[in-house]
Amino acid sequence: MSPRPGPHSRHPEHHRTQRVGWLRAAVLGANDGIVSVAGVVVGVAASGAGADVILATGVAAVVAGAMSMAAGEYVSVQSQADTEAADLAVERQELESEPQHELEELAHIYVRRGLTPTLAREVAEQLHAHDALAAHARDELGITEMLRARPLQAALASAAAFTAGAVLPIGSALLAPVQHVAMATTAVTLVGLLFSGGLAAWLGGAPMVRGALRVGFWGALAMAASHAIGGLFNVQV
Ligand SMILES: [Zn+2]
Repeated sequence: MSPRPGPHSRHPEHHRTQRVGWLRAAVLGANDGIVSVAGVVVGVAASGAGADVILATGVAAVVAGAMSMAAGEYVSVQSQADTEAADLAVERQELESEPQHELEELAHIYVRRGLTPTLAREVAEQLHAHDALAAHARDELGITEMLRARPLQAALASAAAFTAGAVLPIGSALLAPVQHVAMATTAVTLVGLLFSGGLAAWLGGAPMVRGALRVGFWGALAMAASHAIGGLFNVQV
């Protein structure tokens, strides 16, 4: 019997969740890069420092920021990976010591999802025969290959997103005349934040304008604060 074409074969739906996770994390990481590096550049520029000092400080802020983002992401995702590995070890142990009980547990999960007890039992038996640990990982623990915690990948993605965002303030520190670096960086940063705030909102299915204004507001506040504090130093180098 030829299989009836499933919904996915004719017109695959576009589920936001499929692309939101990592893209939204990347946009938010870029936001961090834009705001924190722009804050350093604007603050140092407001202190009256020379172009090379502003640039050197900005680049140091990029490196420090990207490394700390990567370290933070690595540690948090690694602890998630550790938890997953510990759960899988317990599951493996239970499958060895109480295979019958585990089979009933899996069948019960399928009954709760709407299968008849007979069919649930049959599905559980077939999945146990195929790969019992994978079935329990997916249907009992919610751990799938696609969503497995990948600390190094997450750390690299986070550092890359931060650095991508930082290109804006570093670019304006490079290109603007030294006496206009603070103003140029603030303008470029606000445009960048309005765009990324709107994009993050759109990806999350939220109103774009509100998302853009919200991020823009906090960015403007950060620029104003660092400019004020930088101005206090008024260093002539
Ligand atoms: Zn189990």
